[in-house]
Amino acid sequence: MRTKPAAPGAIPLIAPFMAAAVLALPACSATNGDGTPDPSAAPPPSSGGSGSAPADDRGSGNGEGSASPQGPLAGTTVVVDPGHNGGNADAAEEIAEPVDAGHGSKACDTVGAETDDGYTEHAFNWDVAKRLRGVLEEDGAEVVFTRDDDEGVGPCITERAEIGNEADADAAISIHADGGPASGQGFHVIAPGDLEGYTDDIAERSQRLAVDVRAEFEENTGQQRADYIAEDGLDHRTDLGGLNLSDVPKVFLEAGNMSNPEDAADLSDPQWRGKAAKAVAAGISRYLQDEQSGEGE
Ligand SMILES: [Zn+2]
Repeated sequence: MRTKPAAPGAIPLIAPFMAAAVLALPACSATNGDGTPDPSAAPPPSSGGSGSAPADDRGSGNGEGSASPQGPLAGTTVVVDPGHNGGNADAAEEIAEPVDAGHGSKACDTVGAETDDGYTEHAFNWDVAKRLRGVLEEDGAEVVFTRDDDEGVGPCITERAEIGNEADADAAISIHADGGPASGQGFHVIAPGDLEGYTDDIAERSQRLAVDVRAEFEENTGQQRADYIAEDGLDHRTDLGGLNLSDVPKVFLEAGNMSNPEDAADLSDPQWRGKAAKAVAAGISRYLQDEQSGEGE
């Protein structure tokens, strides 16, 4: 099982650039004493290897693909928050640091769940988030991520919320898979519960977003509503800083229960994750289009 999704685009993209840089060396006198080109003078690969090439592609005029976006979601911004992070487990102290979650303090971040076979939630979240970004961008949305890779630490839940606020997102979603009781199966969507001064501004819109994501997820993945949560597949919580501190409509998806063998098999299957990402995109899309047309109000 792959725990580190590769960035297949990175190598071919960088290779021509590196080749050009090496070819150009003699002209910029980057040579050894004997006049031969010094390969070590080439720029370090890290300068172009951040893996966030698509996000950096803000250049104008020289790429047909980067013209102003078209599609049903053109003009909208969606913040996608892949829960947890791959470096959290090795940074126990740092992520345990308490932060103000709006309703008492919470840990900055947590490690997340994993299946019995060791497939981690952070890897699942990251994989689904990337697939989701692809679908949303194809539909014209601008997508902002809360973390750049799956090897880092955090960010804290406060910062994850802040990224959505700063982007003035039309919708934000935090992608997770649960670590519930092994006998419990299914997905659920978490919307902000009522918390005066915190969630009253986003509760109604978040609820509509939750209902749309639930509907599309249920229909398109075949996944059942979690049988260990509320019957309607929706949960409302006031203890999640990521929701309490959000000023934009936001929900958490718990795509399945990693502790349950049947759910674990689905969550570990790349094809299922592709389906899940499309389903989430459809839910967000339904919500955004309803809001735009005024139907949501
Ligand atoms: Zn989680």
